[in-house]
Amino acid sequence: MKSVAIAGNPNCGKTSLFNNITGANYHVANYPGVTVEKKEAKIKHNGEEFVIVDLPGTYSLSPYSLEEKVARDYVVNEKPDVIINVLDASNLERNLYMFVQFMEMGAPVMAALNMVDVAKLRKINIDIKALGEKLNVPVIETVARENKGTKELLDEVAKFGASQKKSSPLDISYGPDIDEVLVKMETKIKDAGFMTAKYLPRWVALKYLENDEQIVSEGAETGGVHHELSAMAEKLNSHIKTTQKTTAENLIADYRYGYISSILKSVVSHEDSPLDRLY
Ligand code: GDP
Ligand code: MG
Repeated sequence: MKSVAIAGNPNCGKTSLFNNITGANYHVANYPGVTVEKKEAKIKHNGEEFVIVDLPGTYSLSPYSLEEKVARDYVVNEKPDVIINVLDASNLERNLYMFVQFMEMGAPVMAALNMVDVAKLRKINIDIKALGEKLNVPVIETVARENKGTKELLDEVAKFGASQKKSSPLDISYGPDIDEVLVKMETKIKDAGFMTAKYLPRWVALKYLENDEQIVSEGAETGGVHHELSAMAEKLNSHIKTTQKTTAENLIADYRYGYISSILKSVVSHEDSPLDRLY
């Protein structure tokens, strides 16, 4: 049975979409060890069974909050066959941050472009075909509040779940300083097979540069090249601090947003409208 996780920012329509997909016939539990609610349901679509999970709403997959940690751990440990990242079409830039993080992980993510009614009211034009091409994943339009697009979404989920390749990991440039060290770290990680049973080498390197507490402490327990990676990350961070007065983590976030705006430039146009004042 294929597993499907529904992920996205708070209030983007995840629960509405989950209810449309499951007919609001679900089981509620908590994620293991924490008081974060987990809604789960089994459904049949065109004769195929799926288990659907509603992940906690978060803006990012950096494990600063319990919800972020739960969402990322679920994806890493349970390896859902398909992640539907629900994107609020009226707030695409912010919503794509999490999407980019899924793509960096190499997670099998596709997108439901929800709230397209709100985007239309606000005269935000989104070229959905161009968006799918730029993101390199299937994108299906939905209006979850009106149960629109649900069938089309499930058809695409089934197709995506059955495909071998799914999405390819996204390698964006984080600028010359970071890119150079990232490649060196990635090679070390690959050669040592350090944490590679669970994670992509480049992703582990990125997490060391971002000083991701969870991954770095997992790395410390693993041993291996942990100390070398920590030293490389520390050296780069002090260089960045001296030259750019910031941290690798902040720079990486800036480059993610830069990547997102470069995509949206050719995908989204906005006709200024008096209706804007209503929202
Ligand atoms: P969640 O926090 O991601 O689970 O979002 P919810 O499903 O709870 O939805 C948040 C609010 O947005 C609710 O009031 C929904 O009725 C509304 N909503 C969900 N999808 C849509 C949509 O496509 N269009 C509009 N206009 N409202 C929506
Ligand atoms: Mg919800």
